[in-house]
Amino acid sequence: MTSSLTPTSQEHPPLRTEDETVFESSLESFPASDPPSWTAGRDLTPEQLDKLSRHTEAPFVSDAKQTVANRARIVIVGGGFGGLSVARYLSGVDADITLIDRHNYHLFQPLLYQVATGALSPANISAPLRAVLKRRKNTTVLLGEVTHINAKSKFVRLANGKECSFDYLVLAAGADHNYFGHQEWREHAPGLKTIEDAIEIRRRVLSIFEAAELEEDREKQRKLLRFVVIGGGSTGVELAGALGEIAQQTLKGNFRRINPSSSEILIIEGGPQILPGYSSKLVSKAKQRLARHNVTVKENWLVKEIHADYLIVEHGGALHKIESGCILWAAGVKPSSLGALVANEVGAAVDRSGKVVVGEDLSIPTARNIFVIGDLASREQDGKQIQAVAPAAIQEGKYVARTLRAKISGLPDASIEPFRYHDRGAMTIIARSYAVVQIRKVSFAGFLAWLLWLWVHIVYLAQFSNRLLVMFQWGWSYFTHNRSARIITSSGAGREGGI
Ligand SMILES: Cc1cc2nc3c(=O)[nH]c(=O)nc-3n(C[C@H](O)[C@H](O)[C@H](O)COP(=O)(O)OP(=O)(O)OC[C@H]3O[C@@H](n4cnc5c(N)ncnc54)[C@H](O)[C@@H]3O)c2cc1C
Repeated sequence: MTSSLTPTSQEHPPLRTEDETVFESSLESFPASDPPSWTAGRDLTPEQLDKLSRHTEAPFVSDAKQTVANRARIVIVGGGFGGLSVARYLSGVDADITLIDRHNYHLFQPLLYQVATGALSPANISAPLRAVLKRRKNTTVLLGEVTHINAKSKFVRLANGKECSFDYLVLAAGADHNYFGHQEWREHAPGLKTIEDAIEIRRRVLSIFEAAELEEDREKQRKLLRFVVIGGGSTGVELAGALGEIAQQTLKGNFRRINPSSSEILIIEGGPQILPGYSSKLVSKAKQRLARHNVTVKENWLVKEIHADYLIVEHGGALHKIESGCILWAAGVKPSSLGALVANEVGAAVDRSGKVVVGEDLSIPTARNIFVIGDLASREQDGKQIQAVAPAAIQEGKYVARTLRAKISGLPDASIEPFRYHDRGAMTIIARSYAVVQIRKVSFAGFLAWLLWLWVHIVYLAQFSNRLLVMFQWGWSYFTHNRSARIITSSGAGREGGI
């Protein structure tokens, strides 16, 4: 984008209807202790509600102290990579920005598998949104789950009934697990998307070694120590590699009745190749390295059933039963349900996976003041779907922030260039000192790739304190082979009882 998109004037186009302005001025009669800009109508007296309803369709309340008349109201739903990027790049813009997230923290998902495997603690990979945005005086952070969007009256509603009005809405609500219509599998094969998921996986992984130590039957021990990771994308491969390291190095000498390094780890991939998108040469190097950690890759194996201690897979027309003490799901995600919600609301198209189809400026063609970015957005570039990865969400967030600046400055829409994603490549860590990197046609594997992986992940971590902590933990683990976060917490419905 050109620098001409930055605001050049304090004058704003008329962003609101006359009624809305009247509505705002009517609030000045509220006492100082009256509710802030997102207070629900149910907190108001009947007289106040009546007064408001003459001016608006929804019982909004704007805080006269915070909201300057005619200032644009921008609501961002989601404080992940996309939403946070919008808020950051809107710094200093003359608008009231509200970022709403159901968690009070930004989560660095690419390192979740390290929490799931005890290398890092949850706090290492998350940063409180308030702390990250504390210097953005035009930005308010709200903790809440958005459950309803009213595009016509321009407000979002939270699960607790509170409402928040907007002139521009940015939806960056990300994705959730996708069990392809088999939600019942979730109980037996937890996925990795949230901190809670990571802690649950860590609990199951560590508990299964304890269960095996208690088990006297050798055959049952062997089955308990068979780990199955479903899905051979980056997350599945990183998870499997880390499990191999735990078994071979971290737990070495910790048990008396079992030998953790005899653990077997299977990656079950439904497609023809793990790490789709990587060259076949890199994939074969990755497989060789995984094999050194007792990780076996099964490609073209389709999962048919998942039960507490076994799964049924189909391969070459035959069904196979695989018994396992710990089954983990890394086979895919689906867009947040807010996508379908907004699509219904404004008559927007969704693609096959449920992502909202956006135009070249990332807004919804039928609702140009609503932008959808990140994992929730469907957009093609050069005939290919833009990937659901963190850099895409960050670039889209930055672009939308610039677009909003331009709109607020009164620049014509024609001056806004279409979004273009710059794909900077992909990288996956396989094990200690070994990663694979694919940057367009250039690909390499090994120690240098691993160093690059470390550097990129440190650079992208949200807060300086997290970077220091993570660097310290990685340094410690590298020299000691230890994993500092190896505690078993909570007592979910695991299979500590054995197979
Ligand atoms: C385990 C794992 C590993 C990954 N590894 C990599 C990697 O190595 N490299 C890479 O580039 N990408 C990786 N990704 C993908 C990357 O994390 C996503 O592409 C990226 O997070 C998408 O950003 P987003 O802003 O669209 O969504 P997210 O970052 O997921 O943020 C969505 C936010 O919206 C909030 N939210 C959702 N619904 C609501 C609601 N109704 N109300 C309020 N708030 C809501 C959520 O709490 C969350 O904070 C990984 C993903 C996972 C799960």
